[in-house]
Amino acid sequence: MPSDRTISPRWKGEFKHFKTAVLDDGILLAGFDYSGKSVNVLNVESMTEWQEIVQLAEQTAAIKGVALVSLKIGNFCAGADLEQIHDAQRTRNFGEIEQLVTTVHRLFDAMTRSPKPFVTAIEGACLGGGLELALACHARIASTHPRTCLALPEVRLGILPGFGGTQRLPRLIGLPAALEMITTGKTVFPRQALRMGLVDGMVTSVPSSARTLEAVQKEALVQAAIVKARALCSTSARHQPKQRFWSFPGIRTLVCRYARHKVVKRVRQFYPAPLRAVDAIQRGMRWSVLRGSLNIEKPLLLELMASPISTHLVGLFLSGEALKRGVTSASISPLRVGVLGAGLMGSQIAGQLAEKGCTVVLRDVSSEILAKAMGRIHETQTAQLRKRTILPSDLRFRMLRIAPTLRADDVATLPLVIEAVSEKLEVKRAVLAEFETIARPDAVFATNTSSYTLAEIAASAVHRERCVGLHFFNPVAKMQLVEVVRAPFTSETALARACGLAKLLGKFPLMVNDGPGFLVNRILSRYLAEAVILVGEGVPIRRIDAVAKNFGMAVDSGRPMGPLELLDLIGLPVARHVLTSLTVLGPRIESRDAFLQALLPEGKPPLTFWNSEKENPQTVEESRRHRQTYSEEAGPASDDIILKRLFLPMIDEAVRCLHDKIVDHAWQVDFALTYGIGFPAFRGGLLTWARQTMTPGQIVEDLASLAAKYGKRFEPCTDLSNGSWQG
Ligand code: NAD
Repeated sequence: MPSDRTISPRWKGEFKHFKTAVLDDGILLAGFDYSGKSVNVLNVESMTEWQEIVQLAEQTAAIKGVALVSLKIGNFCAGADLEQIHDAQRTRNFGEIEQLVTTVHRLFDAMTRSPKPFVTAIEGACLGGGLELALACHARIASTHPRTCLALPEVRLGILPGFGGTQRLPRLIGLPAALEMITTGKTVFPRQALRMGLVDGMVTSVPSSARTLEAVQKEALVQAAIVKARALCSTSARHQPKQRFWSFPGIRTLVCRYARHKVVKRVRQFYPAPLRAVDAIQRGMRWSVLRGSLNIEKPLLLELMASPISTHLVGLFLSGEALKRGVTSASISPLRVGVLGAGLMGSQIAGQLAEKGCTVVLRDVSSEILAKAMGRIHETQTAQLRKRTILPSDLRFRMLRIAPTLRADDVATLPLVIEAVSEKLEVKRAVLAEFETIARPDAVFATNTSSYTLAEIAASAVHRERCVGLHFFNPVAKMQLVEVVRAPFTSETALARACGLAKLLGKFPLMVNDGPGFLVNRILSRYLAEAVILVGEGVPIRRIDAVAKNFGMAVDSGRPMGPLELLDLIGLPVARHVLTSLTVLGPRIESRDAFLQALLPEGKPPLTFWNSEKENPQTVEESRRHRQTYSEEAGPASDDIILKRLFLPMIDEAVRCLHDKIVDHAWQVDFALTYGIGFPAFRGGLLTWARQTMTPGQIVEDLASLAAKYGKRFEPCTDLSNGSWQG
């Protein structure tokens, strides 16, 4: 590999978002470094500069080819500027976006057609428009850096890849693989990318810490891209679209029909973007890339971008980014964490920590429980191995990072301990007392409790400032939210460390104030309790869950789920505990405890609502025994009434949470419920949905009418009618 290239003084461009230099062998090295942002984005400004660079390369005889590299750490390019898109959605002015799409299509096409080769060196996240930029190049080299990943996640924002991605990707990697990537937005890692033909080479490279053009030039990755560009200078066969069997229209139609079927199975008809993307791909394959991109992709993109669904999804995405930026976080050093309790939650948390490179000490009270927990973690990791997203060595290292133990002393030297022991106050207090006697003085105690307040757990602690809540959601791998609970006594250090850990796990740390059920469980409890009450009235389990699923609950996780399925997932003992303990909030939390108690027979496993995808006959029998009936006037529960009974109390509780200052803003409620319990993202969040589909007066009236028929638990709070929650 040539290492004696130097930057020639002959030509040096001055740009705001790119650093450029011509190397001695005629390769123009362009370093993308978007000014004022931590990631590279494609917008009018950066693309105008890139256009200038492409033209200069075309017109300068001394330039033989171009190698494009990112000067950001861990990011090649995040894609289109979402803030710009969201501004356009809010102002309903898409003129600038339309102009950008046209410019980018022409620019990328000019690159693809250029006689001079363009090669990208990809390290870090290469997403959306970033990948479309790479696809317009003649070759792509990826680094094996852990943060390198490639995806076209546009459908998750309610749009489609609009910079030629729907046209170029199928031509590069074939129709089925492209449909899968585009309709799911799934992430591809370097090894997979190489296998699929998405990248042409993979290099193990150590990134330089100084991200200057001079420094990155010495990296193996950039050297490989330069060598590739040189090699392509002397070959006429460049970027030949691959001819495969899907060039036959009949087969194309079948493959696309199957892709549509898969989309509808996964997200029903709630999200139009993946289906429009299939349309764009199918129709575009009849044309050359340029005509396909401009004529087909562009109008579909603009139509989707103008829809309320995309506006909601982009808004939620930006809220998540703001959330991550807005918290002060501190890294855990050394990266070793204790997890107390190896049950359902403890084992999942330990598995996630090990995945992210943490050493974990996992403590429980019996070897059998620990063995079962390690078995569960191994099973989850093996599933990733089967999907070929990790290597056997990754699995081994992850498992080796977890040290199961029965000894409390083993967590003594750790900077942070997460408590996920049984939901019993005396057990939690005992575990905290033990922690205080053995832990190092600056160690943080983070509780994953669902129902106790931080104040209750830390009531007799000596150093309450070290106590913080770190409330994960089940299943931990899927749910992206973590509530970071702050009591008045919690120190800033404890909060920062808890936020740091949540970020390390790739979660959104939402800061909430201490209070029964915090934010999410407090609102969720109204929904779950009402579902149990409906079962007690004899409404079929299947029907209750169907109403929630038809509304879109948990559709974004890929597994739509009603409240009773969710109760089974949480586990009735924990759920019952949460519901009973939240009765402190007032009579509006009705837990139907006698019925729930009957589902938890002494010395036997708890009953579930569902059993192998069928209603559990034992649970149905118990519900008959505890049947609750209402007056004739209430009438049979229609689907509309079930929907109102499940969701209106959640709105009421959310408004009460705002009143109690659990969080300050309605958008935090929307974000928390979307990422914590799977409230459908396409509706924009609970309060946005309420605001956009009902007036405060209507909500109050409906709740009052439900209260008259079914009980006082539906009585609306005063803040609902004054509309203060509408922001
Ligand atoms: P679980 O019953 O599955 O696990 C609790 C584990 O704690 C058991 O293995 C038990 O042996 C162990 N344990 C008891 N005393 C201990 C001690 N002194 N030291 C170490 N381990 C001890 O319960 P879970 O569902 O995993 O819940 C754990 C915590 O997470 C609870 O506080 C719960 O409220 C919370 N949580 C649960 C969910 C959920 O969906 N289940 C979701 C969020 C939070």
